Amino acid sequence: MQPIHHRATRLLTAAFASTGLLTACTREIRIEQFDATPATESKSAARPGTAIDGSGTIALTALQQAPLEIHFIKVGQGDCTLVKCPNGKNVLVDCGSLKEAHPLSTRNYLRDHLDQMHIDTLVVTHPDADHYNMIPYSLAPFTIGRIVMIGDPSEYDATAYVTSASQKSSHGFENWLSHFDPSKVTVVDQDDIDESTAADHALFDTGEVDIYIVAAEIDDPGNLSPVNTRSIVLMVSFDEFDCLLTGDATFPTEDAIIAKYPADWLDVDVLKLGHHGSRVTSTSPVWANTVKPEVCIASAAYTKMHGHPSHDLRERLEPHTDTVNAHKIRWWNGKDSSYNLSDYKEATYSTARSGTIVVKSDGQTFSVLYSE
Ligand SMILES: [Zn+2]
Repeated sequence: MQPIHHRATRLLTAAFASTGLLTACTREIRIEQFDATPATESKSAARPGTAIDGSGTIALTALQQAPLEIHFIKVGQGDCTLVKCPNGKNVLVDCGSLKEAHPLSTRNYLRDHLDQMHIDTLVVTHPDADHYNMIPYSLAPFTIGRIVMIGDPSEYDATAYVTSASQKSSHGFENWLSHFDPSKVTVVDQDDIDESTAADHALFDTGEVDIYIVAAEIDDPGNLSPVNTRSIVLMVSFDEFDCLLTGDATFPTEDAIIAKYPADWLDVDVLKLGHHGSRVTSTSPVWANTVKPEVCIASAAYTKMHGHPSHDLRERLEPHTDTVNAHKIRWWNGKDSSYNLSDYKEATYSTARSGTIVVKSDGQTFSVLYSE
């Protein structure tokens, strides 16, 4: 049985604007600190499939001892997550949405927070525009080492950042991808991730940080959103710290993952809520009770159009989330109403209200930085 870990939390309200860590520098930056959950089984020993990681045998350098950073960049109703690893490598997971976000802001954020104008690995979780449509514009100044994606390029057509219909053909993701070296594009599916190969290890060269593809191309055409169900789901593991990046994973994706991996292995510290915090498609009670996240993050827009994150998720998450200092989050409570909770004291945050959220970990503890 998983031991119960008491979480000591504290708030450091600091004038952090000078660090440039977050985009919303006009607001107060807050930090919550947590202890990472000691795993009952090591990730590499318990996972039945492929460990896609660095060797972990490289001698530590000053650079490698720098903490892991995961930036949940505020992109409105979409996803864009930057993983900066202690060995200097980075992985960008998705880059999309035009609702309450501008591609130039995303470009500037990446320029300000990457050590070089280079993205080592770009993961495109699935062919929904809010996960890739800013790529041609926002990533234009950057070189990209490798792309990991699902599906056929034609599934990604004509929805990139454009200002007119005539631009679609030349600026769409499919066209952008056609100019990328095909030998550096890896299309994954569920079959691939069950076998450990040398090629898999080349996908992510992230040193002490293990990044696992937990799911990809789960096929369930009968559900509400089959494209979302196909999402690439990643586990980012750094010693005792674990974070699940879910894309728009849906109930069938969650069920498939639960059926495949030991429950202890799926117990994480941080969960990016699937499908922006939808209650209709994602984060089932069984999923919440399996992954047991101390901290949850919704990447969503401040709009009632989509109603994310959903109020109904609260009761699924609160048995697991840590108690923290009061912060504001707007849950969507039905189609025609919404309200702000100004004193929410559970560790669920939304980019809609908190701006870009940064999680930093040294493998034993982790911090959540957000603006209030
Ligand atoms: Zn989405």
